[in-house]
Amino acid sequence: MGQLFLNRVQKFFGDFEVLKGVQLEVKNGEFVVFVGPSGCGKSTLLRMIAGLDATSAGDIVIDGVRVNDLPPVKRGIAMVFQSYALYPHMSVFENIAFPLRVENMEEEKLKAKVEHAARILHLDQRLQQKPGMLSGGQRQRVAIGRAIVREPKIFLFDEPLSNLDAALRADMRIELAKLHRQLKATMIYVTHDQVEAMTMADRIVVLNAGEIAQTGAPLELYHKPANIFVASFIGNPKMNFLPVTCIGASTAGVEIDYKGQKATIPVAPRQGGAGKELTLGVRPEHIQIGSGDITLTVAPTVIERLGAQTVAYASLDGEGENFCATLPGSAGVRPDQALLAGINVADCHLFDEKGIAFER
Ligand code: ATP
Repeated sequence: MGQLFLNRVQKFFGDFEVLKGVQLEVKNGEFVVFVGPSGCGKSTLLRMIAGLDATSAGDIVIDGVRVNDLPPVKRGIAMVFQSYALYPHMSVFENIAFPLRVENMEEEKLKAKVEHAARILHLDQRLQQKPGMLSGGQRQRVAIGRAIVREPKIFLFDEPLSNLDAALRADMRIELAKLHRQLKATMIYVTHDQVEAMTMADRIVVLNAGEIAQTGAPLELYHKPANIFVASFIGNPKMNFLPVTCIGASTAGVEIDYKGQKATIPVAPRQGGAGKELTLGVRPEHIQIGSGDITLTVAPTVIERLGAQTVAYASLDGEGENFCATLPGSAGVRPDQALLAGINVADCHLFDEKGIAFER
């Protein structure tokens, strides 16, 4: 078992409220990723679950037991850090075995557990080597092995891949997803990298300034972001936002005006919207060259050719590159050459003055 329940969890550092009453349930076997910008409180929340930081208020409940007052070793969790925290003078075997040695586990049982973890992590040929002889990815796998042998109820990962280069990170993402399938364990993973969150999570928890901005499956957050914060955080390059005015509503949706162009966005209308300043959101991958329901004329200032795709950045109002379109790799766009960028209303998101999404 490995269920976690966070009940109105708060954390103050002095007068500063880092976590503002976080409420969350994690199911047994779920892979949940906490994601959010630097300083939003995700590491603090993880450290509180681990018992490394005290909780200012609220309850942390693991498998029905309130663990607030239990020390880390009694909580049935294992944590993997960004810095692998390996002992350089010990072999891979001894590094993985370390928590079992602390428990005084009998040698034969210990050996079986270490070898089992090493097989899962493809480290069986490396057991006699020292960490200094391993690559970054292999070292991180040793750290994960040390967590596996403890057979925790919940694995906690704090940005475990951020010291690795891009290629290794991509490999390790796949390894971790496989590990989760194999162990069927509850895993909670902290990252500021939305690609890691999108690719590994069963469910993503987006944190903003100590509060949950939205929780949901990766594609749910992509297709139905609840607010501008989540809309701009999930998706790469990030969503474009245009200021529009609400001019009315019909059964087909909310009618908007963007610089004289009128369109009906197929979202659920609300009472008394006419005249309100709203924000229209459209993802770069939903922009097409040519006209659409709304058409912009843009002159890209920067063009990135990635092979399969061409990413064009432009400025809509002369204030920096605030518009982006992801076009086919073969798109014949050139810097400073004006092009028509078409937006279809079916691809649009609409947000109210407070940044809350209209229901799609
Ligand atoms: P990052 O991605 O940069 O690690 P994070 O979302 O994990 O960010 P936390 O490390 O949880 O953020 O920190 C949240 C806030 O709490 C930050 O403003 C940080 O400065 C503050 N903070 C964290 N630890 C302490 C501490 N021990 N004392 C005082 N303030 C702290």
